[in-house]
Amino acid sequence: MTDNVISVRGLCKSYKKTEVLHNVSLQVGRGRICGLIGPNGSGKTTIMKIMAGLFFPTKGELELFGSSENLDNSRARMSFMIEQPIIAGSMSARENLQYIRYLRGYPDERRIDEILDIVGLASTGKKRANKFSLGMKQRLGIGMALLPKPEIMVLDEPVNGLDPEGIVEVRQLIKRMQEEWGVTVLISSHLLSELSELCTDFSIISHGNLIENLSREELLVRCRNHIALRTDDINKTAAVLEDKLSIHDYKVIHGEEIQIFERLGDIHHISKTLTDNGLVITKLNEEGQNLEDYYLEKAGGRNE
Ligand code: ADP
Repeated sequence: MTDNVISVRGLCKSYKKTEVLHNVSLQVGRGRICGLIGPNGSGKTTIMKIMAGLFFPTKGELELFGSSENLDNSRARMSFMIEQPIIAGSMSARENLQYIRYLRGYPDERRIDEILDIVGLASTGKKRANKFSLGMKQRLGIGMALLPKPEIMVLDEPVNGLDPEGIVEVRQLIKRMQEEWGVTVLISSHLLSELSELCTDFSIISHGNLIENLSREELLVRCRNHIALRTDDINKTAAVLEDKLSIHDYKVIHGEEIQIFERLGDIHHISKTLTDNGLVITKLNEEGQNLEDYYLEKAGGRNE
C-alpha cells in the first residue's frame, strides 16, 4: 500500500463569497515528486497555503503523515516555499541560512556549509542576496527550506521566471533531494513541460477543480504515439495481432479500443491482415500528443 504523506479530500475554499477550490482531492506518496500543474489562477497556491496552515479550508480534510490531528507538529517536519522565497536582501547567503537555522532550531552549524555546497552558492561570500540572479535566489530559498532536513518540501512555482539554465539547476537540485535524501516533494507549475521529466506523479488542476491525478507512466502512455484501432470483435482482434502479426506491445482500453505502440509505419499491413481474418474495422488511425498539448486539452489553457 502506498504510504501517503499528504492527503487532501474534498477541499473547498472560498474567498468572501467566491469559491476558488471545488472539492479537490489529491495524495502524495512518500518519496515521490508530485507536480501540481494548472494555469495561473487555478488554485495551486491556495492548496499549498492550506497545507502550510496559512489558510483554513471552507470544507474538506487535510492529512499530513497519515493524520489530521496535530497538524502543526506535522508541519514542523515539512518546509514550504510559497510564492517567493523569504530572503533578506541585505544579508548574504550564509547569513540568510544562519537566520533560518536559528528560526527552525537546527543545532548543527556545519549544516550551513553543507547547504551552501548543495545549492551551489559556496563562492558567493559576502555578496548580498539582493544582488543575486533570480536563479540564485531560488536556489537559496530551496537551501533555506532544505536546511532543517524536512521530510516533505512544498514548492510553489520554483522555476517560474528562470532562464533555461536556472530551470535545469533547480530541477537537478530537487531530483537530488528526492534521490539522495528521500525528501517527498510537492511542486507546482503552470507549465507541464517544465516538470514533465522531473515528477513521478501529476495532479492537474483547472479553475479550482482537480482534473486528473496520474503517474508519470500513465501520462506517458496517454501521450505515446500509437495506432488506435476499433473493430467488431476486440478479443479476436487481439488474437490476430499476436498470432498473425506478432504484435505484443498494445493495450485494450475499456474493452472497446486497442492502442498499438509498435509497427506504427505498418498500418496498411495491419489493416489488411485484420480484414483477411474476417474483422470489420471501424477505426484505424495513428494518434498521440505531446505532453503540453495533452495538458492544455485537460486544463483548458495556460493562463486565465
Ligand atoms: P494559482 O496559484 O494556481 O495561480 P491561486 O491559488 O493563487 O492560483 O488563486 C486561485 C484563485 O483565488 C484566483 O482566482 C485568485 O484570484 C483567487 N485568490 C487567491 N488569493 C486570494 C485572496 N487572498 N483573496 C481573494 N481571492 C484570492
